[in-house]
Amino acid sequence: MSVHLKIKMARDLYERFSSQISGIPGFGRMLRDYRNQIHLSRDVMNELGLPQTCTHCAVSIPGGGCCGPEIAQWYDTLTLLLNLFFQVDFPDEPYYPDSCLFLGKDGCVLLARYHFCVNYLCSRITSRLSAGELGRLTSQSGRELYAAWRMEGVLRQFLTSRAVPPKALN
Ligand code: SF4
Repeated sequence: MSVHLKIKMARDLYERFSSQISGIPGFGRMLRDYRNQIHLSRDVMNELGLPQTCTHCAVSIPGGGCCGPEIAQWYDTLTLLLNLFFQVDFPDEPYYPDSCLFLGKDGCVLLARYHFCVNYLCSRITSRLSAGELGRLTSQSGRELYAAWRMEGVLRQFLTSRAVPPKALN
């Protein structure tokens, strides 16, 4: 399924179910915790000076460096749906030709990101950071991904209970 079709499905699910999902006990708290973990990950990345490195690479290297066009295709409907709860606006076309659809002018436009995008560290980064810095970064990435996994579980359970086929969520 193309990423554009998954975006369409995520928007449709959001329109149909966002009010009911927001009413699930504990959902608001989990969403705030997830957002908080995303921001904490960004704080660690900022402290380690990574956004400049990643953005430079993503916007200067033809094909987007690590942010290549194929990666948007790996996104599932549930992760896209989570972004809609954060009011993320998906682009219709990639800002940089031959790069990931979600790579905006100054970096990734998503808040909820696929595990590859959260976890992947290229050799340019790993060779620059100390073991302690790498440990901080990967620990925080783990906390962010754990919060994402909890959110996905809640969404999946709710949507399957409303007869949304599981394969429509992948
Ligand atoms: S989703 Fe974001 S981080 Fe992942 S490849 Fe695309 S632009 Fe890069």
